[in-house]
Amino acid sequence: MRDRELYARILNLTAPWSVTDVDLDLKGQEVRVRLDVDAGAELRCPECEIVCARYDRRERRWRHLDTCQLQTVLITEVPRVTCPKHGVLQIKIPWAEPGSRFTAMFEALVIDWLGEASTMAVARLLRLSWDEVDGIQGRAVARGLARRDAKPPTQIGVDEKSFKKGHEYVTVVTDHVTGNVLEVGQDRKQETFEAYLKTMTPAQRGRITHVSMDMWQPFINAVRALVPDAERKINFDKYHVASHLGRGVDRVRRAEHVALMEAGDARLKKTKYLWLTNPDNMKRARWREFEALRTSALKTARAWTLKGKRSGGVGACSRDRSANACSKPRTARAARACASTWPRFGWSYAISGRG
Ligand SMILES: [Zn+2]
Repeated sequence: MRDRELYARILNLTAPWSVTDVDLDLKGQEVRVRLDVDAGAELRCPECEIVCARYDRRERRWRHLDTCQLQTVLITEVPRVTCPKHGVLQIKIPWAEPGSRFTAMFEALVIDWLGEASTMAVARLLRLSWDEVDGIQGRAVARGLARRDAKPPTQIGVDEKSFKKGHEYVTVVTDHVTGNVLEVGQDRKQETFEAYLKTMTPAQRGRITHVSMDMWQPFINAVRALVPDAERKINFDKYHVASHLGRGVDRVRRAEHVALMEAGDARLKKTKYLWLTNPDNMKRARWREFEALRTSALKTARAWTLKGKRSGGVGACSRDRSANACSKPRTARAARACASTWPRFGWSYAISGRG
């Protein structure tokens, strides 16, 4: 297969577009793919889609997915048309959005990576500037908004993402059903998330069934302020719930230990990690050693049992979370089977207590 044909296929180009040339510039570490539109093709106004007369051409470039780690750019002279109604405009091109210097496939790659890494990391890995990543995010948000107009989301997630080594944050709102990024807002303040929620009508907000998040108070406040029945709809990430409850158990243990030691009772001495270890990760012998303590009438044991029931498997047995007692699964496999029954959205605000 010739390189022009190869690129036409990779780019999924159809008539009237074709690849006219492929240049490999090893010194500049760049592959340049030149495209052109058939001379006789009908050209349409991008606004009203009527066939219009050609006006002129302007050379434009788009960064595409790398070819064997060589930066790859598409270059073409994009025709402009004169529409009687809309004037002189550049025609629509199939591989990129208007105003973008990246192909749609490249932008999709960036958005995928932003789901896995910080903005700075994505910029560094893909050799982009902060502003370029920001522009790509902005267009993804605009697409999300356009889709949202058609069908407002009912299950959303809100997340704080740090960049610049954790000193600055953005708020990222996603649609759990479609996976679309709905909003990227500056900072991680209550107002930031509220601004997003206010783009929906009160009726649309009423139809929200889940808002998942970590235990960041400003986001909790925003949902409480704008989403009816908020307490039932907020779902915390299960690991945040577990660590929050774990800190609670530890506070109870410390206070009780001091009181017991004053009475000459050293039962809680050196037991910190027994209470904090996930039983699913505890050896059976150690679990048996722990039995007298965890089934005792100590406040720490009661707090620990409550944590097991509330976190539903993180930090305590998940098997018996519906029952009052908490017993350890017999095998690691049983423990994993328990873990797999975790609800998709973690635990609701109502049962996990206030952040
Ligand atoms: Zn027009």
